[in-house]
Amino acid sequence: MTYDVVIIGAGPAGLTAAIYASRAGLKTLLIESAAIASQAAMASDIENYPGFPEGLNGFELMDRFRKQAEKFGAEFRIDDVKSIKESKSSGKKAYQIKLDGESVVSLSVVIAVGTSPRKLGIPGEEKFQGKGVFYCAVCDAAFFKDKDIIVAGGGDAAVEEALFLARFGRQVTLIHRRERLRATKILQERAFADKKIKFIWNSTLIAISGDEKVKSVKIKNVKTGEKKEIPCDGIFISVGYIPNTDFLKGILKLDKNGHVITDSNMKTSKKGIFACGDAKKKLLRQIVTACGDGATAAFSARMYVEELKGEKYGV
Ligand code: NAP
Repeated sequence: MTYDVVIIGAGPAGLTAAIYASRAGLKTLLIESAAIASQAAMASDIENYPGFPEGLNGFELMDRFRKQAEKFGAEFRIDDVKSIKESKSSGKKAYQIKLDGESVVSLSVVIAVGTSPRKLGIPGEEKFQGKGVFYCAVCDAAFFKDKDIIVAGGGDAAVEEALFLARFGRQVTLIHRRERLRATKILQERAFADKKIKFIWNSTLIAISGDEKVKSVKIKNVKTGEKKEIPCDGIFISVGYIPNTDFLKGILKLDKNGHVITDSNMKTSKKGIFACGDAKKKLLRQIVTACGDGATAAFSARMYVEELKGEKYGV
């Protein structure tokens, strides 16, 4: 069986592409990874998605997207995509998407694979992962009731994590390598007003220590070179994200950070493959921009498939 479009990734971009593609009558399959969760689904409180002034939880929002795609007939499958290669279906150009074990064939592909948390790569980070070192406050904050918590990073995500963790912990110390935050103003103001959150500026984490669990972190002031050890129970690392595009190397044109390069219609360097959401090169990574990308990618895929089938409308 040949799909019209296979969408890889179940975040806001992929799910929106699934809604648009299936509603347009394309035979649509969405493949979601068992190992990689959508960043949006892990957001505790989304307050800038239009139409929900009271805010809403990311998991709930993604669940609504999914139901909408299912309503229009999109199929879902949990599997890991290993590679994509050119193929043929009834004499037409197609793509073979190799999964764990078997393959599916589709006339077009929409890449919506999102990103994963960047690691610091410091001693102790890997050893204590899950034993005091975490990358998602919503998932793991509950372990840190009345504990001392470190957050590393200075962007929107780090500040949101710190605010969320402050609901649980005794104290949250946010450590940032500069002397001001990258995060948006409204989040900064909330963090500065939260008495449980304190800040250490111009500093980076250089090592994590403990026995069974994390006991302390060593930091270094990037201006003075001074090093010190801070006792803590948990460390949440939030220093940005890297695109989940390793499997696309050599297949699509990527930028130096691994983001897929597309035009404004979400076309990639390969005809019939489109990309949307956080994994593509773009200025603003937000749920609302991922949705816009997803809709455009599905529309471009539809135009491509109709042309391939000789069903293109008008000129
Ligand atoms: P980000 O905006 O790229 O910020 C990453 C932060 O980590 C920066 O402050 C950066 O420092 C720091 N950093 C990076 N590498 C580091 C290293 N090796 N050591 C120490 N610090 C390091 O990433 P993000 O906060 O994860 O957000 C990702 C995207 O999602 C952004 O577009 C963000 O706006 C969006 N987002 C939005 C919301 C929201 O709207 N509510 C919430 C979460 C995320 P420098 O500042 O020095 O570069």
